[in-house]
Amino acid sequence: MYIVLFGPPGAGKGTYGRKLSQWLGIPVVATGDMLRAAIEEGTQLGERVKKYVYAGELVPDEIMREVVKQALDSETAKNGVIFDGFPRTLQQAKMLEELLSEKGAHIDLIIELDASDDVIIERLSSRRVCPKCGAVYNLRTNPPKDDSKCDVCGTPLVQRDDDKPETIKFRLDVYHKQTAPLLEYFRQQPVDYLVLNTEGTIEEGEKKLREELVNLGILR
Ligand code: AMP
Repeated sequence: MYIVLFGPPGAGKGTYGRKLSQWLGIPVVATGDMLRAAIEEGTQLGERVKKYVYAGELVPDEIMREVVKQALDSETAKNGVIFDGFPRTLQQAKMLEELLSEKGAHIDLIIELDASDDVIIERLSSRRVCPKCGAVYNLRTNPPKDDSKCDVCGTPLVQRDDDKPETIKFRLDVYHKQTAPLLEYFRQQPVDYLVLNTEGTIEEGEKKLREELVNLGILR
């Protein structure tokens, strides 16, 4: 099963992607995480993409094609994946259809996560992440137990460079201009389509999402 999680930065794609992955037993392909890991490791890919990621700009589509193709070809992706942060342009959506059709597959479900810009700005400014294990916290709504350290592995938490106020506003702008127009295209596709408002608590969101997936016969 191939699922696309769609929505602005900070709408909860990472959070709900992890939940879906647990429920369905398929991995998340989070392109932002993959690019940040490549930058961190100083790979050739990391060198090519860092200027875009740091600035909150979209990485060129041709580079994203290579990244996603490699992820889809991996052994762990053979039963499907949950895309978090891809596709982000119409060209990427078409690329994805092409890559999947080469495997005799297609997008099965699109989940649109929705939250207002004000909620997102608030949420991203207080987001902190563990640079080691990837756990995500929110200083207001989901703080770590011990000050500013990760509950899971004890590593000091950091703020993503692109979660600084100026870059958050820029990323939202990029979303509205370059990515949101994709919604129209997605809505016209003959695939299951869900909209989940994520402004409430994570527990409320999970409950709603689970109900919707049961209604679609994807979960029991
Ligand atoms: P994210 O973690 O999804 O918010 O992505 C962080 C950054 O990675 C974005 O601001 C872009 O610079 C880059 N990025 C991630 N996914 C894509 C994509 N599908 N297309 C272009 N750039 C991307």
